[in-house]
Amino acid sequence: MQPLLNYIGGSFVPSNSGDTIEDINPATNQRITTLPRSSSIDVDKATQAAIGAGPAWKATPIEERIKWLENIADALEAKHEEIALLETLDTGKPISLSRRVDAARSVSNFRFFAQYAKEQQPMQFEANGAINHIHRNPVGCVGLITPWNLPLYLLTWKVAPALLMGNTIVAKPSEMTPLTANLLAETLDELKLPEGVFNLVHGLGPEVGQAIVEHPNIKAISFTGGTSTGRTVAATAAPMFKKLSLELGGKNATVLLDDARIDDIVDELVRASFTNSGQVCLCGSRVLIPAKMYDEVAEKFVKGVERLKLGDPMDESTQMGAVISAEHLSKVESYINLGIEEGGIVLTGGTSVNASVSGVHAEGAFLRPTVIGGLKHTSRTATEEIFGPVVTLHPYHDEDEAVLIANGTEYGLAGSVWTSDVERGHAFAQRMDTGIVWVNTWLNRDLRTPFGGVKQSGIGREGGIWSMSFFSEMTNVCIKQP
Ligand code: NAD
Repeated sequence: MQPLLNYIGGSFVPSNSGDTIEDINPATNQRITTLPRSSSIDVDKATQAAIGAGPAWKATPIEERIKWLENIADALEAKHEEIALLETLDTGKPISLSRRVDAARSVSNFRFFAQYAKEQQPMQFEANGAINHIHRNPVGCVGLITPWNLPLYLLTWKVAPALLMGNTIVAKPSEMTPLTANLLAETLDELKLPEGVFNLVHGLGPEVGQAIVEHPNIKAISFTGGTSTGRTVAATAAPMFKKLSLELGGKNATVLLDDARIDDIVDELVRASFTNSGQVCLCGSRVLIPAKMYDEVAEKFVKGVERLKLGDPMDESTQMGAVISAEHLSKVESYINLGIEEGGIVLTGGTSVNASVSGVHAEGAFLRPTVIGGLKHTSRTATEEIFGPVVTLHPYHDEDEAVLIANGTEYGLAGSVWTSDVERGHAFAQRMDTGIVWVNTWLNRDLRTPFGGVKQSGIGREGGIWSMSFFSEMTNVCIKQP
């Protein structure tokens, strides 16, 4: 594959220094290509291009910007298979998952915001003999920084509303998964999106990401990534009074109430735990089980986990591929070892079990899905984000204790509740300190709804009107007839 380039002011260019980084396929540990190792100089060039394009893009009527979103959706849809393939190469996730989730959602992000914008009514309030007209103006040049787990899905989730609201963009994808961001830049270039409206700068987080956050002319930062990085981003951006959206880590609870029918839901519980090798910020990594049902649920859950087919991501029947890198594999394995040190019992998977992969994949970052029982719910293994295929099981004695365990981490991103009684599930869900709770379902997304976390899972919400608000500044014009 050709070396990747930055996309600045409508041109594909190398980094100023000419330095590069290797892009590795984690399923084979082989090099795919290289990407620019950019610096603050490249970020500054991209920002200048974005600022130069700002006035014309702002002046483009919203109806035309909506049309742009629709055209981008069509163009990405035509590349559905290519997106899926690139995403699987970069992440090691199964090709079926890349098609169903990554490629599909990247298209629907653009379609959704185009349609949603058409449905908006002008905001007006009448009082005291005057009418208040609320106008939304673009923020200006915005910085979009995204992680490796859902590369194009999460980038387009930000790009679509940012363009819609008239902003120009400096984007930085994860250095581990640059391929589909490059495909997006190529697509926008083919569509002849005006030069400078969308700029892409590849590179390392502390270099390029940090330079984006520090740049005085980038007025808003939408960041998705880990909590510790989010803390650095917040510390840098706050004194500059930048608008900030932080979508961070999680340690989500999957709660079975005592009327849950395990045979009916076990496959969904496994999916909620191990989709994308547990590398979805919304995956449930702690399963809370009524003590009287613990043995039965643990046994059936483990059997369900053992049915998952692990292996070659390009095989249509594979359900779990590699984790993102050899380095991440080591981190996940160190958490399994920590779990054992903390008194946990590995019920399936674990470090000592080789993945059933061979040939070109023998060097890949594969790990069997791992379930650990017997840990205190306050242990590090059960409270820190592992972001891999590791789930802990915890018995509880009554709903108050289940709430205590569910809320007993510094995170508050997502959770799920499983019950035969939806009202009971709804009531329990409201006691969970998280941004989203699913009852009897998981990763069931309506893009109009607010998405984001509480506590150390983030600040702000994205989706529907919340994204439109983040990517705009409102002016209230209050008019009284003379
Ligand atoms: P990360 O924080 O290491 O990196 C995220 C992005 O930030 C990357 O592009 C990285 O290069 C960049 N970055 C790193 N240092 C930076 C700095 N100092 N300034 C600016 N940018 C910097 O996260 P990751 O390992 O890529 O992704 C995994 C994490 O993302 C997990 O914690 C996961 O829970 C979280 N995540 C959250 C959501 C959500 O919606 N809440 C969604 C997906 C992933």
